[in-house]
Amino acid sequence: MSALLLAGSAHAQTVVLEHFTLIDGTGRAPVTDQSLVLVDGRIRWVGPAAKAPAPKSATTEDLRGKYLMPGIIDSHVHLGLVDGVDQNYAKYYNRANIERQLHLYAAYGVTSVYTLGTDGDAIHDVIADQRRIGRIDMARAYTAGRGVVFKGSYGGVPGLDQMVATPAEASAMVTREVAKGDDFIKLWMDDEFSTIAERMPYAMSKAVIDTAHKAGKKTAGHIFYYDNAAELTREGIDVFMHQIRDRTAGPELSRTMKARGTWQLASTLSREASFTYTLLPFVDDPFFARGVAPTTIAALKAPARQQKLGSSPLFPKYPAAFSNAMANFATQAKNGVAYGMGTDSGPSARFPGYFAHWELELMVKAGVTPLQALTAATGTNAKFLGTTQTGTIEKGKWADLLVLDRDPVADIRNTRAINAVYIAGRKVPTIWQTCIGRAADACGPAVQ
Ligand SMILES: [Zn+2]
Repeated sequence: MSALLLAGSAHAQTVVLEHFTLIDGTGRAPVTDQSLVLVDGRIRWVGPAAKAPAPKSATTEDLRGKYLMPGIIDSHVHLGLVDGVDQNYAKYYNRANIERQLHLYAAYGVTSVYTLGTDGDAIHDVIADQRRIGRIDMARAYTAGRGVVFKGSYGGVPGLDQMVATPAEASAMVTREVAKGDDFIKLWMDDEFSTIAERMPYAMSKAVIDTAHKAGKKTAGHIFYYDNAAELTREGIDVFMHQIRDRTAGPELSRTMKARGTWQLASTLSREASFTYTLLPFVDDPFFARGVAPTTIAALKAPARQQKLGSSPLFPKYPAAFSNAMANFATQAKNGVAYGMGTDSGPSARFPGYFAHWELELMVKAGVTPLQALTAATGTNAKFLGTTQTGTIEKGKWADLLVLDRDPVADIRNTRAINAVYIAGRKVPTIWQTCIGRAADACGPAVQ
């Protein structure tokens, strides 16, 4: 063992993973026969297996034939909103439920999540503990706290104090959120297919963005309409957390976004796709079903539910919104807009973990390569928050890792062939090993 590896770590726990194909999250092409040396949960060395140092007291794992990538980051989720398909912030927003969902994300290989504006104060306790402990066994959370909602308009959740009436109130709210320790700021500008009278006025969005920037925080926008995206780009918003869905956009806005450094951090294609079904097409897929309770599957399959969804006045509008989102994502990607990966999972019937894998598949269907989709979901998502802790396989970062049995660059659906998930260098149960969403008596044997 080299002196370097021993430095300052007399009782260090050292793990060597060797002979895997590396997808490092930077966008670099996969490299075969690589090794990693992990010390106390962090990446100490990465490179060709033939050149790897050989620490004496290390635990070594041979990952020949396997693919190793950074744990997935989902840039748009909501925590603690539901139990099964029942959504109720007042009832379910608590630390136990938040942490249960963070464990579920981890089982699916999603090792970090950004939670988007529906958080009460419990999230700050969870995050404070996570950052103090470091070597946790659930997904890492980053939060936008309470997002800013224009009073009477669309956004937020009932029961959470987040409505403001004037730009001055919005600005004061951002200041309060920054003081609570939010990692970034969120605003909503939408009117739910014109079913709500007003969208957030531009003077208010400008106040939010400017106040956040003065405090050194980025602002993330919920948008639906092209015109709002264009104006928010001019106002200096940092990222969009949904695609433009009212129409297909030409390349002009992409060029402006690229020039101004505005990112499309989440396109939530899986969200838009999910709305086009009365019965989700994967309810019997074991990769999905293992993450939910049997009662949830029964609730999804209930004829009355399907009838209700299908007869909603909004239901006929969703296919166009979905296809616009797919086309606009493709246009942005082609024109050099920086993009991440985010699902908007967490509200009712938008499922933690599973949706991240579906989102990656839809991104590829829309026109980017599997490697580009994987880079969006790892290195790019991490770059948004400027974190030096996660997102790529590089020296010094936490060993938050996803090990796959099959090549995700050959077929993006191979992200589901989860062999192992590591958080800070320790294995956590994968969805194939645990029945985390299920009652104990309904838990079948581990399958792969
Ligand atoms: Zn959302």
